[in-house]
Amino acid sequence: MKTMKDSKSVCEKSFVASHIKELPKSGIRKFFDLVNTMDDVISLGVGEPDFTTPWTIRETGIFSLEKGHTAYTSNLGTPQLRRAICRYVSDNYHADYDPMKGCIVTIGVSEALDIAMRTLLNPGDEVIYTEPCFVSYPAEIRMAHGVPVAVETFAKDGFALDPVRLAQAITSRTKAILLNFPCNPTGAVMSRARLEEVALLAVKHDLVVLTDEIYSELNYGEPHVSIASLPGMAERTIFLHGFSKAFAMTGWRVGYACGPAEIIDSMMKVHQYSIMCASTMSQEAALEALTSRGGREMLKMRESYRRRRDLMVAGFNRIGLKCLMPQGAFYAFPSIESTGMSSTEFAEKLLKDEKVAVIPGCAFGACGEGFVRCCYAAGSADISEAINRIGRFVAAGKKK
Ligand code: PMP
Repeated sequence: MKTMKDSKSVCEKSFVASHIKELPKSGIRKFFDLVNTMDDVISLGVGEPDFTTPWTIRETGIFSLEKGHTAYTSNLGTPQLRRAICRYVSDNYHADYDPMKGCIVTIGVSEALDIAMRTLLNPGDEVIYTEPCFVSYPAEIRMAHGVPVAVETFAKDGFALDPVRLAQAITSRTKAILLNFPCNPTGAVMSRARLEEVALLAVKHDLVVLTDEIYSELNYGEPHVSIASLPGMAERTIFLHGFSKAFAMTGWRVGYACGPAEIIDSMMKVHQYSIMCASTMSQEAALEALTSRGGREMLKMRESYRRRRDLMVAGFNRIGLKCLMPQGAFYAFPSIESTGMSSTEFAEKLLKDEKVAVIPGCAFGACGEGFVRCCYAAGSADISEAINRIGRFVAAGKKK
C-alpha cells in the first residue's frame, strides 16, 4: 500500500501554485529552528515585547469569556472598538476616519496587510516599499499577485526613505507605496519634511499609501508624524495599526485598518470570506487597552525600552560595532562590516561560539547585508551579558 510519503513518486506534478512555491521561507524562521535546538541561548532575535499584557487588559479578556461573549461580532469588528480606534487615531495621529465605514478590525496588522494587498492589486501591479524591511512585505505583495519594488535605505541617511530614490522607482504600474516608520528592523523614523515629499509624489502619481504604524507609540525622539495626517492624505492612505507591540498583545492577534470607505468596504469582503471577524475576546481586551489604563502602561513599557536601547547601543559602539541610535521600535541594527564576515556567517558563528542569537540583516532584504538585528525587548542583564559575549567574539575574530 502506498503511504503519504510515497505520494511524490505517484504524482508527477506539484500541487502547489508556482507563485507560492517560489516564495522563500522567512530567514528569521530558518534561524530560529536552529536556535530552538540549543540550550542557554541569549536571544536578541524575536521581535516582540518581553512584557506580559498589562493586567487590566488581560482581566477584560477573562471577563469577556466569563460573561459568555463567545459569539461572532460584526465582520468589521464591534462598533465600540471601531469608535475607540477612530478616536485614538484622530487624537494621536491627527487623521480622521469614519468608525462605521472607514475602519475594520483584523487579526493583527498581518491580516490587515494581507487583505489590503488582495483588495488593491491587479496582477502585475507594483508596490514600492523600503528595504531593509519587515520580512512579510515582499511575500504579502507576491501572494496578492503584485510585484514588490524595494527602495534601499542607508545607514548614512539614518535608514530614512529618500524621496529622490522613491521618485525613481515609480512606474506606470505602481499602485501603492508601503511605509513602516518607526521601522523594523532599523528603528528609523521619518521627518515631517520627508513625509511631505512622499505625500507630494503619491498625489502626483495618484498612488495609494499604506502606512504600517505598528511601532508608532514606541518613538523616542521627535513626536511621531503619520503621513495620514498630512493635507489630502487620509483619503488615499490606509492606516494599519494594532495592539501587538505598544500594548504587549502579540498573542491576542488583533489589529486594524482605517482608510477611505470604498477601500475598507472592499477589504471587508476579503475579510468576511476568509476570516469572518477578529476574536471577540481579543476585541474586548483591545477596547480596554485604548480606553482605560492601557495608555499609562504603554508609557511605562516605552520608558523601559528606551533605557534598554541606550544600554545596547552604547554597548555595541564600545565593542567596535558601529550602531546608530534607533529613534523608534525596539531594534538596534549594528554594522558588522568591520568583522569581515557576512551577516549570516556572523549570526551563525556567534550562535555556535557564544550562544547569542541575533538575526542576519540580509533576512530583511539584500541591503541589510553587513548588519544584524538585535531586539532590545530583553532583560538588561541579558543585554549586558550578550554585549560582553559579542565583544569577546569580535575580538577573537580580529586575532585570527
Ligand atoms: N508590521 C511590522 C513592521 C512588524 O514588525 C510586525 C510584527 N513583527 C507586524 C507588522 C505584524 O504584527 P501583528 O502582530 O499585528 O500581526
